[in-house]
Amino acid sequence: MNVIDFEFRKEVLQHNASLSYCFQCSTCSSACPMALLTNGKYNPRKIIEEAILGFHEKLIEQQDPSPWLCSTCQKCVELCPQKVELTEIFTLIKNKCFEKGRVPEAFIAQGKAILDNGIAIPYSKSILSRREKLGLPVITNAPLDELKKIFHRTQFDKKLATGGGES
Ligand code: SF4
Ligand code: SF4
Repeated sequence: MNVIDFEFRKEVLQHNASLSYCFQCSTCSSACPMALLTNGKYNPRKIIEEAILGFHEKLIEQQDPSPWLCSTCQKCVELCPQKVELTEIFTLIKNKCFEKGRVPEAFIAQGKAILDNGIAIPYSKSILSRREKLGLPVITNAPLDELKKIFHRTQFDKKLATGGGES
């Protein structure tokens, strides 16, 4: 049985007030590529409903469905007739899962790649040479020194080392 966590409910609504405008029309779920790929198991409309209701246990502890399935393509946000900022709440949910150390290994690896290279998916030599042949512009990575300062201030580096959880 789902239990309402009133503190979580308050936090979610304070985080993004647009959620309260959701009238559960399902336009987001109809357009979501992940809903299609998972036969509706991943359902943004339902996640929004459960977030508004404050179902902390289901969304954060059980991760049912996994919030990491959302690719942040923003299709749901573009089409929502009520201008609900769905991905904002999905990011809050992911951040809360991260703080509990409940993150798929692939995301930890991407975080580490950003920490080391300033980019989530570093370019291989062959990609760079193909880009050059095609006359594409030279890629400049984000300034690593600046990123490291942000990672340090936000303790992202420390959290990554512990798989997202408390050390
Ligand atoms: S499209 Fe917008 S209003 Fe409709 S269910 Fe999704 S979030 Fe709610
Ligand atoms: S942003 Fe996430 S929830 Fe929204 S349509 Fe894309 S994959 Fe689906």
